[in-house]
Amino acid sequence: MLNIILFGPPGAGKGTQSAKLIEKYSLVHLSTGDILRAEVAAQTELGKAAKILMDKGILVSDDIVIGMIDAKISKHMGGKGFIFDGFPRTLPQAESLDKLLTTHSTSITMTLALEVDEKELFHRISLRGKSSGRADDQDEATFHKRMNVYNNETSPLKNYYSKQGKLKQVKGIGEVDDIFKALCIEIDKGN
Ligand code: AMP
Repeated sequence: MLNIILFGPPGAGKGTQSAKLIEKYSLVHLSTGDILRAEVAAQTELGKAAKILMDKGILVSDDIVIGMIDAKISKHMGGKGFIFDGFPRTLPQAESLDKLLTTHSTSITMTLALEVDEKELFHRISLRGKSSGRADDQDEATFHKRMNVYNNETSPLKNYYSKQGKLKQVKGIGEVDDIFKALCIEIDKGN
């Protein structure tokens, strides 16, 4: 299987590039943010509790997101592989993902980290906020909160994957198609 983590801060282009990658490589897209927003839209108990945290840019508990991913992985095993987008975001999530994949006799193939500077991220999130309807995209203080969470809890995972020899860093600034090509080169090299 081809199991890719598309890694990066808010606004790095994970959603945009995931959509292109799943088409080219016939992968299943697993975005914990999208799954949580579907729960919010359906007004489930989980969605109602998650919304309060999401609107503030705070992470939802590891147990909840790991449970969601576990269910989705089991449902889609047997396919060509997965793109994980916005997951894992903490060390316990990364460790649980490795364990889950091992129980299915597979593993992470590589982690592709999109590198974008904070000024550009803020610009992109501000633009997205005008059309996404996402409360967390519309407030500067929430953007900074999300960046703090990313820098403190998520960014250290680069070290986790680097130690496993699985981290590939890709420049995430420029034309969408050029970034896509750069990602494909890394995938084709390592696959
Ligand atoms: P995203 O769409 O990936 O930017 O996620 C939006 C929000 O959903 C985040 O700010 C968190 O509140 C929540 N969320 C998404 N993925 C995760 C995750 N893997 N762990 C914890 N919270 C998450």
